[in-house]
Amino acid sequence: MIVDIYGIQKKRDRVIFEDALDFYMMLLLPRRISRGIQVDLSFKKKLDDNVDGWCSVAGYNTCKKAREFEIEICKNRSMRYQLMTLAHEAVHLKQYALGEITEDMDTWKGRRIPSSTDYYDSPWEIEAHGREKGLYVRFCEMYGLKFPITTQERDT
Ligand SMILES: [Zn+2]
Repeated sequence: MIVDIYGIQKKRDRVIFEDALDFYMMLLLPRRISRGIQVDLSFKKKLDDNVDGWCSVAGYNTCKKAREFEIEICKNRSMRYQLMTLAHEAVHLKQYALGEITEDMDTWKGRRIPSSTDYYDSPWEIEAHGREKGLYVRFCEMYGLKFPITTQERDT
């Protein structure tokens, strides 16, 4: 996997985010797929619609599989929050890479999902919200990071 990081000055932070994305991908995708993936990871003070993060497809391989991605993370948040947001977006990257969702966000594993479906009821968000914390916690344990887990729920 090739990752280019933008919008972070501190080298230590860049390394943590790069290692975190590597780790999340290792847990989410088989190596034969992740090694062909390229990601532009940008950190910005404010994202459109005030979201915490975003993952979009930037390119496909010759077999029409999504392999190039752009992830944006709002950096106006704690390190812990950003690492969890990155885990959430990594799950969406996995969904695109495996063809579980399409760019139109109207299909889940070949099944049509009505556009009236609430954000929190859509299967891709259920999976992303369901896995973000576990991915983050395992990264912290592996990396020896001591960011506190609070009981405060994320709202996006
Ligand atoms: Zn999401």
